[in-house]
Amino acid sequence: MKYLIVFVVVLVGIWFWRNNRRAELRDKKPPRPPPVSGPQQATEVVACAVCAVHLPRPDALPGRRGLYCSEAHRRQDEA
Ligand SMILES: [Zn+2]
Repeated sequence: MKYLIVFVVVLVGIWFWRNNRRAELRDKKPPRPPPVSGPQQATEVVACAVCAVHLPRPDALPGRRGLYCSEAHRRQDEA
């Protein structure tokens, strides 16, 4: 019976030691770097419906039949 108590005390001691070590390892980990912006955050590139030139979406002119690189191409396509 005495040995059983010693055995349990040793087990509990090992369990505590392992928990402490795990907490230490977790604390030592460097903070996560901020998430890198994915490709979906990059500027989308669209093609002009007339000349197929590629340009960033914010610079494209929306028209009834698509996106255009310039006012001239939009008028040309919608005429
Ligand atoms: Zn164009």
